[in-house]
Amino acid sequence: MSSNGQNLVIGTSLIHGTGGFAARDFNPGDCVLEYIGERISKEESLLRCEAGNPFIFFLDEQWNLDGSVDWNPARFLNHSCAPNCNAELVEGRIWITARHAIRAGEELTFNYSYDLTEFREHPCRCGAPGCVGYMVAEEFFDIVRGR
Ligand SMILES: [Zn+2]
Repeated sequence: MSSNGQNLVIGTSLIHGTGGFAARDFNPGDCVLEYIGERISKEESLLRCEAGNPFIFFLDEQWNLDGSVDWNPARFLNHSCAPNCNAELVEGRIWITARHAIRAGEELTFNYSYDLTEFREHPCRCGAPGCVGYMVAEEFFDIVRGR
């Protein structure tokens, strides 16, 4: 385990590979950390997505964010269908915030909010009781459940 700041501890995930864990308790709405990365154009974003980069987020009509960089510890947070964090886009920056009360030591997760494009290539093994089987945004849960 290694610590990143005072909010996050990196360790072996219960879900997949490496994960991020709460270094302290959080109240609902608390900011855990910023999801940072490289600001890239939509064209560059398309190329990287096609190359299989799963760390790209929408920022605004002009820019996306590629979080697959060493200086972004939030990249270790896994997707979950029943996450304990939200990824909130506020004025062109992405913040990982507590969705509900979180205890120190809990693995931190958020919904990667992928759309339905090739959703079968992103199977979900989050283990949540309501897992829909694929990493998609909540608005698509009913569509992919049981597929
Ligand atoms: Zn799941």
